[in-house]
Amino acid sequence: MTTACPCCGGIETEAAGAWSRCRGCGHRWRLPGEAATVSYQRLIARNDTTSPDFRRKLRDRLDTLEPLLPAVSTTCRVLEVGCAEGHLGEALKALCPMVYDGIEISRDAEAAATHLDTVYRQPAAEVQAPAYDWLLAFHVLEHIADPAAELSEWQRLLASGGRMVLEVPHESGHPLLASDEHPEHLHQFTLPSLLCLLQRAGFAAEAISGGHYESAVYPDNIRVTAHRRESAESRQDRLVARFNEKMGNRPFLVYGVGGDFRNYVLPVLDRLPVLELLDSSAEKWGTHCAGRVIGQYNPTRHRNAPILACSIRFQASILESLRKQGVPDDRIVTLEEIYGY
Ligand SMILES: [Zn+2]
Repeated sequence: MTTACPCCGGIETEAAGAWSRCRGCGHRWRLPGEAATVSYQRLIARNDTTSPDFRRKLRDRLDTLEPLLPAVSTTCRVLEVGCAEGHLGEALKALCPMVYDGIEISRDAEAAATHLDTVYRQPAAEVQAPAYDWLLAFHVLEHIADPAAELSEWQRLLASGGRMVLEVPHESGHPLLASDEHPEHLHQFTLPSLLCLLQRAGFAAEAISGGHYESAVYPDNIRVTAHRRESAESRQDRLVARFNEKMGNRPFLVYGVGGDFRNYVLPVLDRLPVLELLDSSAEKWGTHCAGRVIGQYNPTRHRNAPILACSIRFQASILESLRKQGVPDDRIVTLEEIYGY
């Protein structure tokens, strides 16, 4: 029977030993019944936390997470899916105060509970909690039969502006092994398959890196930082809010009706309190754009309203022109200020 690829949805698949392989994204997967059935509830002490190997793994993860810490505050909420004994959370909480919860199905949950705030010993689908700002999941997804369903639960637990950091073995996880036969593992991700899965699950990847260390037999792992993909409507709402904030919540004039106006203002023009469109070029005066007549700056009629200097490329000449016409700088807002990050 042919089943669609769980990552890209492609139906061109082939058998590769005990695995199915997608010809599109290269993903390999098998059903739980095709691997040894693992009872996670009974497992314990899955890490030798005193070994140099464990410390190397922890260091590798902290190298990615530590630079993110200044952005968090005491109200920051973190959920680590598959938190094992809770040592990553313990290390992060020592660096920055935060609420750090974990999900751990195995008996390691008992050890984790001594380091973390709340440890859920149940699947993510059964966890009910206020939204988290960060969701971390190191070496979880390759264990789960339906990774898309799992990711949708993670979406549910993540705040709208929240971020996720996840890591999985890159293919076999080792450059000398052609396949990963670990009985707990149901997926062998490729870079395209992981990115396809995230895209289809509603996440946008913002950083991706390879070669991360998990253990001697899994030294090659992919790590991705991603956030929930924002809808076009939500982005537009935030852009309109940005315009209103920067223009002092007042009706304003647009000065400069060219390519940047069409690209960066016209898409939301109907939602902005634009009084008039103005341009320094006499050739444009009296012509129409977006159903409005383009006019000339009038120092008397336009003396109070804030002005959007509406060109990135010609910003300097627009500012010079406005200053010559007696417009003080505190009435001028540039397109750079609207869009600048
Ligand atoms: Zn695929």
